[in-house]
Amino acid sequence: MAKKASCSFCGRAKNEVGILLSGIDGHICDTCLQQGYEVIKDDMGAAVKAHKPGNQQFELVKPKDLKAYLDEYVIGQEEAKRHLSVAVYNHYKRLMQTPAADDVKIEKSNILMVGETGTGKTYLARTLAQKLQVPFCIADATVITEAGYVGEDVETILTRLLQAANYDVEKAECGIVFIDEIDKIARKSDNPSITRDVSGEGVQQALLKLLEGSIVNVPPQGGRKHPDQKMIAVNTENILFICGGAFDGIDRHIAKRLNSRPIGFSGDDTFHESFEKDQIMKYVSAQDLKSFGLIPELLGRLPVVTFLNPLDEKALLSILTEPKNALIKQYEKLFDMENVSLSFSKDALVYIVEQAMQFKLGARGLRSIMEAIMTDAMFEIPSQTDLKDFKVDLAYAKSKFERTVFHQMKVVA
Ligand code: ADP
Repeated sequence: MAKKASCSFCGRAKNEVGILLSGIDGHICDTCLQQGYEVIKDDMGAAVKAHKPGNQQFELVKPKDLKAYLDEYVIGQEEAKRHLSVAVYNHYKRLMQTPAADDVKIEKSNILMVGETGTGKTYLARTLAQKLQVPFCIADATVITEAGYVGEDVETILTRLLQAANYDVEKAECGIVFIDEIDKIARKSDNPSITRDVSGEGVQQALLKLLEGSIVNVPPQGGRKHPDQKMIAVNTENILFICGGAFDGIDRHIAKRLNSRPIGFSGDDTFHESFEKDQIMKYVSAQDLKSFGLIPELLGRLPVVTFLNPLDEKALLSILTEPKNALIKQYEKLFDMENVSLSFSKDALVYIVEQAMQFKLGARGLRSIMEAIMTDAMFEIPSQTDLKDFKVDLAYAKSKFERTVFHQMKVVA
């Protein structure tokens, strides 16, 4: 007689259980399945808890090593690199600290970088994040407005970080956020506002909440287009914020402050004469940023202030050729993949740099100029099977660049 089917775990017969699932060699009833599920769920929960931020292991990179890594990619900007390396090192030491027996709690060292556009602020922050292998995102301060006004809410900054961390909240909570154009949300006048200043002081107030370390409800899909989305709570206590801005005209604030010292200079003009703009920039302090229009509470949350030098011709030439992924190396690689050896004459490189200087876009201009010069060659060469070498000399660079819209823009300007 055939044996009646029963649960291989609890032994109950088919007619004693709700559902009986069959496997190759046995059966399982709905009750045993449910119990098994509970056991697995508890186990996994414990594993997740053991992985909380305090328990995360970081590879602690020493400031000198961090700077050496930055040196491989970013030209110059010694001061900013040193400040960043130390601040990031301390930040990660802070993450690793055990609850202090002596009540000493290391505070967060968010960073503010002051420097003209295209001098490498974003690039520095991005390169850092790459080395540290933590989630990294870039946000633009100009699109943020105070809650309730047209524009993005400040919480959407963290949406991007969550996305960069693949929605792993714990990972995101140790990430780095770069907030660009922070100078554009400066208070419009030096007096605290009486009326609403929704794109200036209001946003600074909203940012404070993120920077000071609190639990923020983040819309996982960002924006206000999905009012029904379930918010994700993110603790910003261990997120490192790096802010950057050009702070156009801040040199005047610095000069004014330095001038007001009891000893020294007689007037504003004397000071300007004796100091070049980039020399003045190295004296930038929280006080100058306050007179530029950042509120003291925000500055208090950005204790590390550093500056980036404007890039001169020599620096731009190095940027073109030296870093690990220098533009010239990228084009050489593209041509190499077509089995063509690409080279540039020195005077062609100098010409490219001179054009970039005229556009005043810092290193950012280099890319567009290179593209303008190289597009024709990149169009033709893949179809030329017999070509082995391609040299860009001054005449070629000039002829290609002068025909572009880009160049004509300059002539009109
Ligand atoms: P910003 O200061 O406006 O944030 P970016 O960091 O975005 O400027 O710079 C634009 C691009 O120019 C970068 O992606 C990078 O390729 C290049 N660049 C800028 N500054 C440097 C530098 N000091 N060294 C190497 N490359 C640089």
